[in-house]
Amino acid sequence: MNDAPQPVKFDAVIVGAGFAGMYMLHRLRECGLSVRVFEAGGDVGGTWYWNRYPGARCDVESMEYSYQFSAELQQEWEWSERYATQPEILDYASHVADRFGLRSDIQFDTRVASAHYHEASDCWQIETDAGDSVSARFCIMATGCLSSTNTPDFNGMQDFQGPVYHTGEWPHEGIDFTGKRVGIIGTGSSAIQSIPIIAEQADELWVFQRTANYSVPAHNRPLDAAEVRSVKTDYANFRVMNYAMPAGFGATKPHHDGLAIDATEAERNARFATRWELGGLGFMGAFEDLMLNPDANELAAEWTRAKIRTIVEDPITAELLAPRQTIGCKRLCVDTGYYATYNRGNVHLVDVSETPVDRFTASGIEVADREYPVDCIILATGFDAMTGALLSIDIRGRAGLSLQDKWAAGPLTYLGLSVHGFPNLFTICGPGSPSVLSNMIPSIEQHVNWIADCIVHMSTSGRIAIECEAQAEADWVTYVNSIADMTLYPTCNSWYLGANVPGKPRVFMPHIGLPSYIEKCEDVVQKGYDGFAFY
Ligand code: FAD
Ligand code: NAP
Repeated sequence: MNDAPQPVKFDAVIVGAGFAGMYMLHRLRECGLSVRVFEAGGDVGGTWYWNRYPGARCDVESMEYSYQFSAELQQEWEWSERYATQPEILDYASHVADRFGLRSDIQFDTRVASAHYHEASDCWQIETDAGDSVSARFCIMATGCLSSTNTPDFNGMQDFQGPVYHTGEWPHEGIDFTGKRVGIIGTGSSAIQSIPIIAEQADELWVFQRTANYSVPAHNRPLDAAEVRSVKTDYANFRVMNYAMPAGFGATKPHHDGLAIDATEAERNARFATRWELGGLGFMGAFEDLMLNPDANELAAEWTRAKIRTIVEDPITAELLAPRQTIGCKRLCVDTGYYATYNRGNVHLVDVSETPVDRFTASGIEVADREYPVDCIILATGFDAMTGALLSIDIRGRAGLSLQDKWAAGPLTYLGLSVHGFPNLFTICGPGSPSVLSNMIPSIEQHVNWIADCIVHMSTSGRIAIECEAQAEADWVTYVNSIADMTLYPTCNSWYLGANVPGKPRVFMPHIGLPSYIEKCEDVVQKGYDGFAFY
């Protein structure tokens, strides 16, 4: 007799309860499906649940970085600042969960360990680290693009006697750095947001920088009531206009066209200065050729380096902080007082570009035979982006094919939504979709709506399973890379290419351009789910 517990059967299992998992649950429940969500964290919010480091906040403006699926929700929620803080975004996620009664279908503190497709029953069998074993017709991965932390294997990590924190797994109780000597490794967005705040508390702050990053000021401020009113008066149109923007935001900001290489020096300087004063990611929209032409890019890069030299008083530190790579190639950072922080007497920059971190000792960090004594270490070392969370689950499709094997040379998807050999598996904002190169909440909503509509279509047309075709998948991967190759994105070692994780295949993962992507998704549906097979 088989005394194993009987698997519970759902129409769909969703993995992850960030903004993607939450909205997917809401949509599928509206469609009448039975759904179970598994979430490794203790509550909703995903990114904003985990990344609680000092200074964590959005770099897309709050009126844009929010759901649009409910007109009532977007009218009633009040953002307080131009760029929302992590606590405020987490409150928002919690409010959405309460308002739509989502938590009753979410099992928290539960990590999905495996998802196997059973061809005989056309079902996914999902196992969790808490011992759950459930089956579902559809398995939807809402596991996040930036949810699997990257922790480099520094020598002697276990020898260090003080606490080590990763920005992406920050303690909920917060940390008071008053009176402490702090070491922080990394100078990406997470470090650049947290360094100015930690510097105000700590006795000494040592910043270990491997690659200097470009950062533009946020010019954050409280939101003006009139500005909020003007967006809310016609929020629907504001959303439509933003969907037409290359990255899904910035429609109401000044538009600039023309080429940097055609402009006079005075015109260029004026335009860069205007964008700098405006603040935020729109800096790269100053001219149309900045991510296409290396000469144009260098003009923007050198303007920014000159700006850094005017802010940072010590010329040696200023030179170290002036990045050398293509501007915009690694994600542009958005800061509040980052460069000026290096004018403080208690902040020290350690260049680890030529001589890497040797090891952690019992009491500090050693570089080039010098020990920097610290009481605690912060790893602002980023994520195994886009594929990390998916590949840490044992996902097996038809004939036991594992996703790890299928993606050994880099991720293969059709539209970033579907993988050949894995029927009824959907990935929200998977590799091959605009995801991290866009305002992610609208991108998530577009994916969720596409998936929900597809499931409804299958139900009304009596289909059991959907799977993308091998050729459609291969063509899509080629196409996504061909777009990237027309730009300057592949010219540096970014996490978009997987270059931050040793041994990860170097493949450009996101699709560049939201409007053309949405058009393609709609076209696929209009052509009867072109590139997909049903059975
Ligand atoms: P996530 O929020 O990452 O949620 C995925 C969830 O899945 C997590 O809670 C995780 O615990 C869970 N999970 C993963 N694997 C498993 C498993 N095996 N079992 C169970 N649960 C699992 N984007 C923007 O557009 N604008 C911004 O300003 C912006 N700022 C950011 C700031 C930071 C610090 C970071 C890290 C990212 C930022 N992003 C930003 C990207 C951000 O990830 C997305 O905007 C968005 O929050 C992603 O939502 P998601 O639901 O897809 O993924
Ligand atoms: P990140 O951009 O990948 O930065 C990681 C940093 O750690 C880099 O400076 C990297 O140097 C350094 N590093 C990694 N391994 C190292 C090693 N072995 N030795 C020394 N240095 C090492 O990660 P992140 O800052 O967490 O940001 C990731 C993404 O999350 C962002 O790009 C953005 O999309 C999102 N995010 C957004 C915001 C926001 O403003 N809203 C805030 C945080 C994060 P190298 O560059 O040399 O690899």
